[in-house]
Amino acid sequence: MTSFAPLQTEYDVIIAGGGPAGLASALSFARSGWKTCVIEPSPIETLVNPSFDGREIALTHHSMHWLKEAGVWPYIASHAICPLKVARIESGQEGGPSLLFSPPQGQDSADALGFLVANHLIRKALYQRLCEEENVTLRAGIAVHDFKATRDDVTLNLTDSSMLKARLLVAADGRFSKLRDQAGIGAIIHDFGRNVLVCRVKHDVPHDNVALQWFDEEQTIALLPVSDEEGKDCFSSLVLTLPPGEIERLKSVSPDEFGEEVTKRTRERLGKLVLASGRITYPLKAVYAHRFHAQRFALIGDAAVGMHPITAHGFNLGLKGQETLVKSLLQGSGDPGDRRALERFSYQHRWHTAPLFAATNAIAVAYTRDEFPFLIARRIGLGLAERLTPFKKAVTRFLMDPAA
Ligand SMILES: Cc1cc2nc3c(=O)[nH]c(=O)nc-3n(C[C@H](O)[C@H](O)[C@H](O)COP(=O)(O)OP(=O)(O)OC[C@H]3O[C@@H](n4cnc5c(N)ncnc54)[C@H](O)[C@@H]3O)c2cc1C
Repeated sequence: MTSFAPLQTEYDVIIAGGGPAGLASALSFARSGWKTCVIEPSPIETLVNPSFDGREIALTHHSMHWLKEAGVWPYIASHAICPLKVARIESGQEGGPSLLFSPPQGQDSADALGFLVANHLIRKALYQRLCEEENVTLRAGIAVHDFKATRDDVTLNLTDSSMLKARLLVAADGRFSKLRDQAGIGAIIHDFGRNVLVCRVKHDVPHDNVALQWFDEEQTIALLPVSDEEGKDCFSSLVLTLPPGEIERLKSVSPDEFGEEVTKRTRERLGKLVLASGRITYPLKAVYAHRFHAQRFALIGDAAVGMHPITAHGFNLGLKGQETLVKSLLQGSGDPGDRRALERFSYQHRWHTAPLFAATNAIAVAYTRDEFPFLIARRIGLGLAERLTPFKKAVTRFLMDPAA
């Protein structure tokens, strides 16, 4: 991969956005023989060495398989990968019902529901792998300002006033995608009215590779097991969902006060919690594009489907989307902007994502509303679901998404 390209160059595919979805798609396009360019506004140092952003990605088996097959997996240190053995969901009520998910016994590599890896390490590994590819050019520190698509090609104007041409523009510019708007594609935006605070915490009680999630009155908490360099299981990722004002307050209190408060909020399930990283916050807004394609234009990653993180599937779906896109184009006429192939991609990606997006939003609403009927329904619901074996099997399969 080259990091600098001459101005006024033509490519088969230009990808706007060097986030995880954009980098993964660049790898897929380059491996398929297409001359590819990635445009990313952040400076090159951010791509070479991305900083911790609080997101711990629960990779499905399918995603792990893709990362292995694409040669990305060896760039992730084994001590940074934490297998997820059990997911435990509770109502927050002392001694109340809980719902447990664990992998089915006796299947290959099914000793884990999934694998937790920090988002910045996935981004770094994707970048490192991309450096091996000759077909990719990366232009960092510059953004796509606007574009014009015709029947034959797309012309892009960049923020440094230079111009590029491609046969396909892939927008991977995140959930508030400007390029999606410029393509005239609307989106459903669901604002949950809550913010999420994520950070790493150290604790005395080992996590035993169990992810804990519970839905208390006025707060949703997840403690996700993560690995540290020493390979001990005394670090977790804390994911706290609260109204925006509360999140701002918790972000600004001293580390000691923060540790005390979250130890209380988690009812000492993992003992005393000590802040072990920066505190990062995100607004909770889910986005679903009305369409995933236009003339010589495709949407992938959060720009296409920006999930609520409760079901941990945003990146997993982003990987699937770019796989579906490249596969559809490879079955097309050979033109990376082939209209029929783009329609096929759009249809298939909608099929893969729409039910999950709707189900995730329904869960997020049911578990963040504190009116009496919602409280009762989720307490009864958890106890009932625990006894419904077919339901549990179906959810386990969805969480794991076994490699086909
Ligand atoms: C707290 C939290 C926990 C999560 N946990 C999970 C999980 O467990 N499992 C899971 O699968 N997913 C999870 N996700 C979701 C996952 O992090 C996202 O789906 C994923 O990072 C989105 O990647 P992306 O590349 O589509 O978008 P982004 O990471 O938003 O990247 C977009 C890129 O586009 C660039 N850009 C913007 N404008 C332009 C422009 N005009 N021109 C060129 N480039 C542009 C930006 O600089 C940026 O680099 C979580 C998310 C959060 C917030």
